[in-house]
Amino acid sequence: MIQTDILIIGAGPTGLFTVFEAGLLKLRCHLIDALPQPGGQCSELYPKKPIYDIPGLPEVLAGDLTKNLLEQGKQFQPGFTLGERADTIEKQKDGSFIVTTNKGTKHQAPIVAIAGGLGSFEPRKPLIENITNYEDKGVAYFIKDPEVYRDKRVVISGGGDSALDWSIFLADIASEVTLIHRRNEFRGALDSVESVQELKLLGKINLITPAEVTGVHGSDHVEAITVKKGEEQIYLETDYFIPLFGLSPKLGPIGNWGLDIEKNAIKVDTIDYQTNIPGIFAIGDVNTYEGKLKLILCGFHEATLMCQSAYKILNPNKKFVLKYTTVTGINGFDGSRKESPKAVVKAII
Ligand SMILES: Cc1cc2nc3c(=O)[nH]c(=O)nc-3n(C[C@H](O)[C@H](O)[C@H](O)COP(=O)(O)OP(=O)(O)OC[C@H]3O[C@@H](n4cnc5c(N)ncnc54)[C@H](O)[C@@H]3O)c2cc1C
Repeated sequence: MIQTDILIIGAGPTGLFTVFEAGLLKLRCHLIDALPQPGGQCSELYPKKPIYDIPGLPEVLAGDLTKNLLEQGKQFQPGFTLGERADTIEKQKDGSFIVTTNKGTKHQAPIVAIAGGLGSFEPRKPLIENITNYEDKGVAYFIKDPEVYRDKRVVISGGGDSALDWSIFLADIASEVTLIHRRNEFRGALDSVESVQELKLLGKINLITPAEVTGVHGSDHVEAITVKKGEEQIYLETDYFIPLFGLSPKLGPIGNWGLDIEKNAIKVDTIDYQTNIPGIFAIGDVNTYEGKLKLILCGFHEATLMCQSAYKILNPNKKFVLKYTTVTGINGFDGSRKESPKAVVKAII
């Protein structure tokens, strides 16, 4: 059982900034995310796009914002359960909550902060009848650890950035990479499209277009796929089939947790973004209230207020006093200390 002070569901920008704000109040956090990496929409949907409306950062790539948020929170040693979706929540007699993921990992905390954004991103799956039989047996919709594919034959299908970028990456790791797309045109960053073109000419990527994967075969594990290219049916032996058709967000199981839901978002109060269940907060894109704006800076604000309420719930007898980091500095849970230089009294002769 993983235990923490604030259990954050969703490691997007809102969840990541919560770690920092909670840390200032000496509260520990653990984050669960259905995706294999932190960053939410910023990492998954637009890592290479510049954002222009983060206060104090005139221009920052979404991927770099994620890196900076992780760096800012690192000193507070957050825990992560990645690649797992929070499925169920049970309230305990002591008032705490136990949240269990789809893989059975259990987490216990007195405070739960749902920072689930648009919901958990579910992979769009190709319409191949028996494909679910091969999930985790050669069929994967995310690449968590590229080393799994070392010296193996890999087929990737898709026509966007993920399919292009992973084909390029795996070209140096896998023994054979085949990229299949239903069109001749790819929709991605120009340098990625050009790299795939180059690797194709070098014989490091086999490109099959316009074509579609229509069947998966194998006894216990993927052994081959069928590809339809015009009238032609190609039987292609492979160890892995990775369809990268993008992700569609769904509020998912959180919708069944007894929370007040309005238009696929969680209703909260505007004092501290608490839901109708005391101890459960909803912050960032996942919540709704009058005047709500789905912006990163609004998620940061909501996370800050929510942490102060969490502190008061967890420390009912302590008086909360707002302190500036410029005055107090930061004591990391890892033993680090940041502070501005102290004023000295020294005569100048
Ligand atoms: C193309 C694009 C451009 C954008 N540009 C801007 C911009 O310029 N400025 C701006 O302010 N905003 C912009 N946004 C919006 C911004 O990205 C969102 O407001 C922000 O990502 C919300 O952060 P979040 O942490 O609340 O949610 P998200 O980033 O959506 O993260 C939520 C995370 O929760 C996880 N999750 C959900 N449910 C579960 C569950 N049950 N179990 C486990 N994990 C779960 C998801 O997998 C996801 O990783 C843009 C969005 C897009 C798509």
